[in-house]
Amino acid sequence: MSKTVIVWFRRDFRLNDHTALEKAISYCEENDARWMGLFQLDPHFTENIDLHHDYFFQTVAQFQDTCKKENLPFQIVYGDAIDVFEKVTDTLDVKAVFFNEDKAGYGARRDQDVCDWLKNKEIEFHSYQDYYLHDKQDVRKQDDSMYKVFTPYYKQWRTLKKPQVIQIDLKKVKKYAIEISDSLDSNKKFKNVLKQCERDWKAIGEKSANQRAKRFTKERLKDYDHHRDVPSIVGTSKLSPYLKTGTLSVRTLFHMIAEYDHKGGETFIQELAWRDFYGMVHAEFPEFRDCEFQTKYRGIPWNDDQEKLNKWKRGETGFPIVDAGMRQLNQEGWMHNRLRMITASFLTKDYLIDWRLGERYFEEKLIDYDESSNTGGWQWASSTGTDAVPYFRIFNPTTQAERFDPDGTYIRKYVKELKDVPNKAIHQPSKMSEEEQQDSHCMIGQDYPHPTVNHKEQRQKVLSVYKERT
Ligand code: FAD
Repeated sequence: MSKTVIVWFRRDFRLNDHTALEKAISYCEENDARWMGLFQLDPHFTENIDLHHDYFFQTVAQFQDTCKKENLPFQIVYGDAIDVFEKVTDTLDVKAVFFNEDKAGYGARRDQDVCDWLKNKEIEFHSYQDYYLHDKQDVRKQDDSMYKVFTPYYKQWRTLKKPQVIQIDLKKVKKYAIEISDSLDSNKKFKNVLKQCERDWKAIGEKSANQRAKRFTKERLKDYDHHRDVPSIVGTSKLSPYLKTGTLSVRTLFHMIAEYDHKGGETFIQELAWRDFYGMVHAEFPEFRDCEFQTKYRGIPWNDDQEKLNKWKRGETGFPIVDAGMRQLNQEGWMHNRLRMITASFLTKDYLIDWRLGERYFEEKLIDYDESSNTGGWQWASSTGTDAVPYFRIFNPTTQAERFDPDGTYIRKYVKELKDVPNKAIHQPSKMSEEEQQDSHCMIGQDYPHPTVNHKEQRQKVLSVYKERT
């Protein structure tokens, strides 16, 4: 039996620009070893398959197909992480494990358990920073503490040299691959999981990710700064699901963008820095997902109204822009950034419902779900996080809609019952006269709900709740 090196794939399903894979191949070359790809199918993620996991598992299946076509070994083994490594090391002569690290959240805790176990078994392990352009050690204040405000963080982040794209020699990857066998009897469970994944996702996987990134850079990047806030047009990259699953490397993306010297490119790069920023905050503050970063906002008496929560989830709040955002999320597993801000603000400030419940709902649905960015976004919107929107700046859903979707194009796309409502009433359909309601085939209270809250009143309530703690 030849010496085996495991490349443990987790959210990095690609064969290019992949740190752990490149390092594993070098190791094989130096130590006359052979490598095998592994995916641990975690029971934690197979219990409830909603859009987020549907997309994720289909991405894994796509990667498995690519490996098959390229004759590369990639095994999917079901079980808790330690059980999986026990099984793998019982079957193969494993000398080392290579992976791209998770610095925060569930992944970081799992990694720590596996590393402790491997250490005990005297098996080498090598982990690498790969998911971000810069991690928490790279961008620090002079006294080595973390930045709590994005702007100075970004100033420093921008001056730092960015890591280069990692060239991978596919010939070598093939040369040092272990002979393919299904000794781990791995596929049965994954096939069952895939049967529950019903969505027909377009353009999944590494090849599509790179094509889309190139197309975006060529066709839309220039206008990104003007168009990124308009939900009715495709003005953003929609690359987040690829970055999340790692079918697109953030290094590759950064260097593609950096070739262009214009405002659009610069604004886009700043968004990639927000991604790093929230990753850094989460790594510094591991409780981030469950606990407000700002201590003064811990213990807010949130409203426990399940009916309202369900209305928000279904997109039946009676505020067209909020409902359109939630329905886009439910249909597509993706939502425009402006809408994420509006819907999150609505849940926390208009319904005064706990941001954690919103965060968990986004987790189920978002195909780009990322613990750090999602928590960062929710704590931003609920004014509880680091560098969050100040509590007294409360989004008015109607004026937000008038500003960012003036003629209601976006609203009509997702809230079909409002499609014939005239422009002047699209943001407040309940103000239509009965005749206008009849003309636009939309009877308020029957076809579309009355507003479920009074924004002005809620605004006062929420202001006093936050003010008390400031
Ligand atoms: P683009 O505008 O094209 O931006 C390019 C990339 O930059 C994105 O793909 C993303 O990786 C990164 N990015 C952009 N904006 C942000 C941001 N504010 N914070 C962190 N990274 C950013 N992003 C996620 O990737 N996963 C999430 O789970 C997530 N949840 C969010 C929840 C809330 C409440 C809010 C307000 C924002 C959330 N975001 C999340 C950030 C942002 O909405 C998405 O990254 C963006 O909408 C993805 O679409 P895009 O790829 O077209 O973005």
